[in-house]
Amino acid sequence: VRIAPVPQSAEKGGEALFLLSFRDISELRRLDRMRSDFVANASHELRTPLASLRGFIETMQGPARGDPKAQERFLAIMLEQANRMSRLVDDLLSLSRLELKAHLAPDQKVDLVPVIGHVRDSLTPLARDLDVEIRLHLPEDRVEVLGDRDELVQVFENLIENACKYGQEGRVVDVYVRNPQGGPVEVSVLDFGPGIPAEHVPRLTERFYRVSVADSRSKKGTGLGLAIVKHILTRHRARLIVKSAVGVGTEFTVRF
Ligand code: ADP
Repeated sequence: VRIAPVPQSAEKGGEALFLLSFRDISELRRLDRMRSDFVANASHELRTPLASLRGFIETMQGPARGDPKAQERFLAIMLEQANRMSRLVDDLLSLSRLELKAHLAPDQKVDLVPVIGHVRDSLTPLARDLDVEIRLHLPEDRVEVLGDRDELVQVFENLIENACKYGQEGRVVDVYVRNPQGGPVEVSVLDFGPGIPAEHVPRLTERFYRVSVADSRSKKGTGLGLAIVKHILTRHRARLIVKSAVGVGTEFTVRF
């Protein structure tokens, strides 16, 4: 609250007037808290693999010195930790770049059919490792939206990669691109994995949110993938719709 005297109000023989102005800063406070939570989370996430790296380096300098078998094992773990840090830094950079251009609506004409084909090709090695088949269900014609091609690739890479990783036990991932007459363009990614309990669904796009920490660690997540998806889709004025049933599977739909 600010109180300011209105200049000259008293001189004119009238009563002294004061101006009271109120400004609601709860939104600013909330954003501030989110920012500091984010920094704390990001630091924690980076510190974990760093601590592990330091531990292994010390072990290799000490107890494991002269034990080539142990050294080989430790080096593999260290490489994995370094990769984890790279993924985190890449995702953090993506988020901060997206924040910088959040107010700009992307305006390229992008045909989603080749975009989805490209994403499938780039995820084929991962899918093969996980023994999952990615099946595409594409219309014959072009399906154009206004967007940013690279960002849309990132969205579908995240969704299809998640479906392969978390829905691995279903063995197939189905991707549908729909462009109904007079209706919105939609891309759906379906898996037949364990599904997501309903109480987690509203929080999936929060930064660093994971349904199960143990599971996500073993599945190489950063917890930032869906936060990035959400940012990109907001910029594209598109929505992310999540339907999931435990024991049945999960469907993520992007509606343009
Ligand atoms: P991560 O890097 O951990 O994969 P995301 O932001 O992409 O982070 O996803 C957040 C969490 O949502 C994941 O850790 C996982 O628990 C859950 N999740 C995402 N996609 C699926 C899916 N298709 N099936 C089950 N759980 C999922």
